[in-house]
Amino acid sequence: MIRSTSGPIRNHNKPAVMRNCTLIGRHFYDVPVNSAVVGHLLAFTLVHILFTVVPEYEQQTQDLTMDLVLNVADHYVLTPYVFPASWPEEGALRQILSLLVLTNLGAAVLYLGLGAISYFFIFDHDLMKHPQFLENQVRREIKYAMTSLPVISLPTVALFFYEVRGYSKLYDNVHDSPLGWPGFFLSMVSFLLFTDMCIYWIHRFLHHRLVYKLFHKPHHVWKIPSPFASHAFHPVDGFMQGLPYHIYPFMFPLHKVLYLGLYVFVNIWTISIHDGDYRIPLALTPAINGSAHHTDHHLFFDYNYGQYFTLWDRLGGSYRHPSALLGKGPHDLIRKLQAEGKLGEDRGKGRGSKEE
Ligand SMILES: [Zn+2]
Ligand SMILES: [Zn+2]
Repeated sequence: MIRSTSGPIRNHNKPAVMRNCTLIGRHFYDVPVNSAVVGHLLAFTLVHILFTVVPEYEQQTQDLTMDLVLNVADHYVLTPYVFPASWPEEGALRQILSLLVLTNLGAAVLYLGLGAISYFFIFDHDLMKHPQFLENQVRREIKYAMTSLPVISLPTVALFFYEVRGYSKLYDNVHDSPLGWPGFFLSMVSFLLFTDMCIYWIHRFLHHRLVYKLFHKPHHVWKIPSPFASHAFHPVDGFMQGLPYHIYPFMFPLHKVLYLGLYVFVNIWTISIHDGDYRIPLALTPAINGSAHHTDHHLFFDYNYGQYFTLWDRLGGSYRHPSALLGKGPHDLIRKLQAEGKLGEDRGKGRGSKEE
């Protein structure tokens, strides 16, 4: 793993063994969790899904056409404990109510759960000393996101409803894929490429001067984002940027379990580009839009609109090599101010706030 010269301050000049030792100390978030660890976890999860969950799910759902999550919720919770037995699982109103609960619950658990893991184990809390890190920023990010997510869930549930009703091209079994297993893997790649392209143009549109202030400005309040800024969008902004994930299965065949896996991955990625961990393997730096790239988007607006890749920023002329990788990032400014004595320990606005 290659670290940038302007990487996080926390492990500056410390050998790896010492970095690990801090795990038992006060700075428990200093553990060098990085993209390699996340990568291994994702790879393990993917292998588990492919060789355990997919075959088991296929055995159980030979005759089912309902959506995976709704099925599981109906089977284990909603039918036995929540809804009256007289209300059929296929009832439209019951499906919409169930989807509303599940979508809000899922979004909150993913956002707060993964956001907290990132905040405590990956996010470098020294960034809270940055002059542009706002007073009580983490609390404000969480409050804004938790207010927007229920509103975003309304149109999202409408799309999920159409998926559940069988109007999408989601399929239950790998042999339903037009290309079998190769099609399964191909859809993984095309999902990322398709959504990356759509989000680039939607995001760029949201920066147009006629719509920016209306919908996208709230997300740019956070100049130095924390992981909790990841979902802190105006509801219209959040829905528009999430729309490509919902459009894809209406246009292209996609396995339901894979769709669920990709949905979780998308949430992890969105948090990861706001986590302040600017390290990227050197070989991937030109192609991957990481936290260093997205931090420059928050700071300088008209650059790095992409989600996963730098491809569309390069094609669209909006690519900017991350300042954090050039020794001019947020950490570099903090070090400079500290060296000049302009940033005492108690100057960090976040340090003294309730979030920590
Ligand atoms: Zn952002
Ligand atoms: Zn933006």
